Amino acid sequence: MIDRTTLLESMPTELWLGGLQVPASTGVRFAVHDPATDAVLIEVADASPADGARALDEAVAAQASWAATPARERAEILRRAWELVMERRDDFALTMTLEMGKPLAESQGEVNYGGEFLRWFAEEAVRINGRYTQSPTGNGRILVTKQPVGPTLAITPWNFPLAMGTRKIGPALAAGCTMIVKPAAETPLTMLLLGQVFADAGLPEGVLSILPTTDAAGLTGPLLSDPRLRKLTFTGSTGVGRKLLAQSADRVLRTSMELGGNAPFVVFDDADLDAAVDGAMAAKMRNMGEACTAANRIHVDNAVRAEFTEKLAARMAALATGPGDQAGSQVGPLITAKQRATVDELVQDAVSKGATVATGGKPVEGEGFFYPPTVLADVSADARLLREEIFGPVAAIIGFDGEQAGIDAANDTEYGLAAYVYTQGLDRALRVADAVEAGMVGVNRGVISDVAAPFGGIKESGIGREAGSEGIEEYLETKYIALQ
Ligand code: NAP
Repeated sequence: MIDRTTLLESMPTELWLGGLQVPASTGVRFAVHDPATDAVLIEVADASPADGARALDEAVAAQASWAATPARERAEILRRAWELVMERRDDFALTMTLEMGKPLAESQGEVNYGGEFLRWFAEEAVRINGRYTQSPTGNGRILVTKQPVGPTLAITPWNFPLAMGTRKIGPALAAGCTMIVKPAAETPLTMLLLGQVFADAGLPEGVLSILPTTDAAGLTGPLLSDPRLRKLTFTGSTGVGRKLLAQSADRVLRTSMELGGNAPFVVFDDADLDAAVDGAMAAKMRNMGEACTAANRIHVDNAVRAEFTEKLAARMAALATGPGDQAGSQVGPLITAKQRATVDELVQDAVSKGATVATGGKPVEGEGFFYPPTVLADVSADARLLREEIFGPVAAIIGFDGEQAGIDAANDTEYGLAAYVYTQGLDRALRVADAVEAGMVGVNRGVISDVAAPFGGIKESGIGREAGSEGIEEYLETKYIALQ
């Protein structure tokens, strides 16, 4: 296992501009912090709008030759990149733990999951198919072809520093698109390390740029209004997504939006309660609750609510909180002091409206941005955390009576990303899965992300799908050629 000093000494910290490491044009750098201590880990180049313009020039210049590169060759580069991520798995895992805070075991899980998008889309690259048919009039042949959309911009969040990037880079490169990636300012290191992987894998110059910046809007605004950019793919909050959609509307820019969630976790009276508690632990505590798919509201039939609450509180209270690289740590720090303050504000709001604290409920004293695993029982309907993303290790439990009330509670939100249902009845499982307004439904499962499954939301949780065989379509245009 590599130690943090050696890792940071070898970390690429300049911009990846068209495949080469270059300093920011302004010479400015910014600090990346360790959320477990708030200490500065390292400084990285701070991309300016001029660097963004140069990256787009490079992406445009490389687009035609990358699109014309045989799919098999594009696939081999992606496959090699996956192999290099696997060879450097310890480096990637420690990098994520240092800059984002999650426990090492979870970072290792993300290396496998995030790396897999490169392998999966290497396999999809050679299966981009069109179709041929005849007009029903008998008077014409119809040829449908697929073409890469062209230069793309990806904006990614801090919570899954590798996977949120590779879930976009994999399909874009496989489809024959060039890409500029703007990672979150809190976690630029993982993407900078991935830039090294792509350079080592032999990706041609110009195809991929990685531009950390403290001026997200200043860098991306001019790119979005440049007619040479053909697509924006964004993962982040619904609020920022709305702004980017408005900006994209001016040019009718193609967009994919992976936005916020408010996932219901619904436990019916016929559920296997121990399995439901296991599932709730996974759906709530993965990434310290900082996941768009995190169970935000735990709706439990009143017939089993007391027993479920007691079991969940015991499991949550037994978790060990500590720095992600400390042996035995199961719950790392939250990403920033601000995020921790937001989580605490939501907890105190719920308590002031009648919720009882079964465990946790107050920020951990001392350095770093730790918040203890918390269970709130008897949460009232007007508590803010039922409407807003908690993004922290807080399980809010609410009772309901009967199947329809469970479905209505699940759907009482403008979001529609993930939902979880626990029941032992097959009929009920299918009925509820059909009725729940979400892009993804876990039935008796607390973890649903899978490289082979389409990931995405409905309602205000987004537009489009990533991963699966659907994921590459987001980077392809459909062209109809009319023939005699
Ligand atoms: P965020 O504040 O929306 O930021 C996401 C990205 O957008 C960051 O790179 C950020 O840069 C950038 N950004 C912010 N304002 C911008 C602007 N005006 N113009 C251009 N870029 C801008 O979200 P976050 O706090 O990083 O991530 C948490 C959110 O992501 C949650 O809502 C979560 O549900 C959502 N999420 C969704 C999915 C999904 O697949 N649906 C997956 C993961 C996370 P800075 O870092 O500089 O602010």
